[in-house]
Amino acid sequence: MDIPFNKPFFTGKEAHQVAECAYTGKISGNGVFTKKCHRFFEEKYGFKKALLTSSCTDALEMAALLTEVGEGDEVIVPSFTFVSTANAFALRGAKIVFADVQKDIPNIDLDEVEKLVTPKTKVIVVVHYAGVAVDMDRLMAIAEKNDLLVVEDAAHAIDSYYKEKPLGSIGHFGTFSFHETKNIICGEGGLLAVNDDRFTERAEYIWEKGTNRAAFYRGEVDEYGWVDLGSSFLPSDMTAAFLYSQLQEMETIQQKRIAIWERYDECLKPLKSEGKIYYPDVPDYATKNGNMFYFTVANRKKRDKILSKLTKKGILAVFHYLPLHESKFFKDKHDGRELPNTQIFSDTIIRLPFFVDLAEREVDRICEVLKGML
Ligand SMILES: *Cc1c(COP(=O)(O)O)cnc(C)c1O
Repeated sequence: MDIPFNKPFFTGKEAHQVAECAYTGKISGNGVFTKKCHRFFEEKYGFKKALLTSSCTDALEMAALLTEVGEGDEVIVPSFTFVSTANAFALRGAKIVFADVQKDIPNIDLDEVEKLVTPKTKVIVVVHYAGVAVDMDRLMAIAEKNDLLVVEDAAHAIDSYYKEKPLGSIGHFGTFSFHETKNIICGEGGLLAVNDDRFTERAEYIWEKGTNRAAFYRGEVDEYGWVDLGSSFLPSDMTAAFLYSQLQEMETIQQKRIAIWERYDECLKPLKSEGKIYYPDVPDYATKNGNMFYFTVANRKKRDKILSKLTKKGILAVFHYLPLHESKFFKDKHDGRELPNTQIFSDTIIRLPFFVDLAEREVDRICEVLKGML
């Protein structure tokens, strides 16, 4: 039997809760379940304001609107990430300045970031790769010194922490994804966490098509109208109902995912000590959240060979993140700097099958197959 790379996990309560939402007859955005989700996130993680979106991409686009970046402004972004992290800011006309990642962890290199800050820099976007925190104290100090805004792309990082602070709650903005490949899912979905009071009111207008409709429904204003720029970033309440059933089971989901990560770690540690594969230890200031299990090998040729051998054995491992600074869209806009660590991670990374229902014996089988070929 083939082992897929990903298989969405269902708690079994989703359909019931979506039906419950449908039977109430109120299925558009900002309904009962949306509010339940918002409360969950605000209470559990201390976000000043949580706003569900239709994707992490949408949440990043909202963050970009809120930072008010535009032509002439520079935004520092890691090159080793998903397209949306950069695209959201490119859409606003800002100049994307790609930074390399660290040699040991594919998180943005803060030494590089310090060198890349210019008087035109407005925003730094970071990704907590595989749910492992960027050194946020140092990042926030750089931001404060240079009067910059920080966006945490926390698409991998739900329920993960930096020195006991939830990821997504430390920067001015945090963005999350509930795409079916992430820890907590609703098909397509996301969340914007706004952590600075200066932006909470405006975030709600932008979310609701540039109107103050949310305030109107709370009875704060007598009528609602066009008060700002915006778009339709809010998901249907049925999506929120689906998501809420997952949030209610979050602890179980996280426990299972972390157990899978630990099993992989246990089985593959010997290969790591022998230097045949590499993956970082989790830094003292960070936690793991069972987002994915990855490792790197010596070079690209070896990586590609392992991937095709695994496929032949019915194990669907993948690689990801082609460097964005070398992408078709961006390569002519890049300033020519080499980003060697981004290149190395992109060339040598392997991500193993990872999903809640992955059985221990399947993890063991994958590890045995790897041991046989390394
Ligand atoms: C998945 C992902 C996104 C995009 O999330 P969507 O919800 O699919 O828009 C953005 N950034 C990172 C780092 C991701 O892994």
